[in-house]
Amino acid sequence: MAIQFPCTHCKTILRIEERHIGKQARCPQCQTLNLVVESMQFPENESEQAAPTNPYSADFSATSSTSPRNQQPHRAGLILALGIASLACNFCLIPSILAWILGKQDIRKMDQGIMDSEGRGMTQAGMIMGMVITFLFFLSITVWLLLVIAYAVV
Ligand SMILES: [Zn+2]
Repeated sequence: MAIQFPCTHCKTILRIEERHIGKQARCPQCQTLNLVVESMQFPENESEQAAPTNPYSADFSATSSTSPRNQQPHRAGLILALGIASLACNFCLIPSILAWILGKQDIRKMDQGIMDSEGRGMTQAGMIMGMVITFLFFLSITVWLLLVIAYAVV
């Protein structure tokens, strides 16, 4: 038998099998992890009113985690270090692209509330450094290629 309860964050009605009590269900709407407990059970008549969404569809993860923290720790230090590394080694491409990609992912996770947003400023700084250096790298390649072509023509 299934139990239903509203997401603690966005109030979407989640339908969960009773055997998942004690585990965590990820809300498909806002990605918030909700602890499934028996007392959340709704009366049968009320359960038919709202259209329930199935949290077991795509990216549901049932964990018996003992950690009270649902949020992932931020990686602002790493991303900022990558940004600085790409500056320090004269516009290396690898750390700058990594800083850009990881920074973008993490800021999206912070927006969704699944990552600690304390490091947002540092993450953003590292990401912007990565973006600028990646851009400059390709700009310099383009300029270099144009010069090579120009010399070849002359
Ligand atoms: Zn939700």
